[in-house]
Amino acid sequence: MKAGMIGIGAMGLGIANNIAQAGLLEIVFNRTKNKADMLAAELNLKSADSPQQLAEQVNLVLICVSADEDVLQMVTAIAETINPGSIVVDLSTISGETAIKAATILSEKQVYFLDAPVSGGVEGAKNGTLAMMVGGDEIVLEKVRPVLQALAGRIVYMGRTSSGQATKAVNQIMAAGINQAVTEALAFGQAQGLAMDKVIDVISGGAAGNWFLQHRGTTMTEGTFEPGFKLALHHKDLKICKTMSQKVKVSTALVDKTLADYEKLMELGFGDEDISALYRLKQN
Ligand code: NAP
Repeated sequence: MKAGMIGIGAMGLGIANNIAQAGLLEIVFNRTKNKADMLAAELNLKSADSPQQLAEQVNLVLICVSADEDVLQMVTAIAETINPGSIVVDLSTISGETAIKAATILSEKQVYFLDAPVSGGVEGAKNGTLAMMVGGDEIVLEKVRPVLQALAGRIVYMGRTSSGQATKAVNQIMAAGINQAVTEALAFGQAQGLAMDKVIDVISGGAAGNWFLQHRGTTMTEGTFEPGFKLALHHKDLKICKTMSQKVKVSTALVDKTLADYEKLMELGFGDEDISALYRLKQN
């Protein structure tokens, strides 16, 4: 398969690197072109001037951009030139409804679409160990699995188009709770005057240990909040989760609290910080 990648952001950079290392990536596109140019020069790839130019040269397009409207813009653009029979895999976190819209636009061009959001952070993207949840046609997934294995350690087929995104919404609700728990508990520990490196070390080995504590615990207690995962992006995800929860009448207490906290932080200008910046609100 000839693969092209759209979106060389925090996640896309590691993902593109891993597909290229596996010898499966031909061409990259990024809206801010110099990021794609730099990566292309480093990895000996082509850098496309437009998504249309990328799509006409490959039969597999991977997308990793910010939000729903960005995915739809990219899908609409590639639909102009993409070859029939090609496959588009969207790794972004968006709503299931948008995934269905993207699949519909592409099916009119005889192109297959998989919604394949990922979890595992920028570390997982860099190390090729992401967890991927996939919606769409299972036969199509099997065709592209050898490429996806270059970026994900776990690939699980979830069902029809949008079920990958619904699974990712489960992950994002859980991530909100973990963020609330870890930031509040560590702010408490710091206020007790404890040695936070020891707190993080010992708790990581017990029942409350988790990925977020291990990867963001030290930086948050040191007061640095480099993304990582931008708070404004998790806010976007939780808005999707809230709408989905309301439709099926499931509690949104945790989602509501985290949305309100993130909105406070965004108003203060911290939207581009990592989600661990929630720590800022726990220290008062
Ligand atoms: P990011 O660092 O902010 O990168 C966003 C990427 O999307 C950039 O390449 C950006 O291009 C591109 N983009 C945004 N709007 C666009 C548009 N209208 N047209 C074309 N390109 C556009 O974000 P990220 O952390 O890589 O996240 C990307 C996706 O992965 C999001 O859906 C996010 O929710 C999801 N995700 C993130 C993480 C994480 O830990 N960071 C984990 C799992 C999933 P420019 O360079 O021009 O801005």
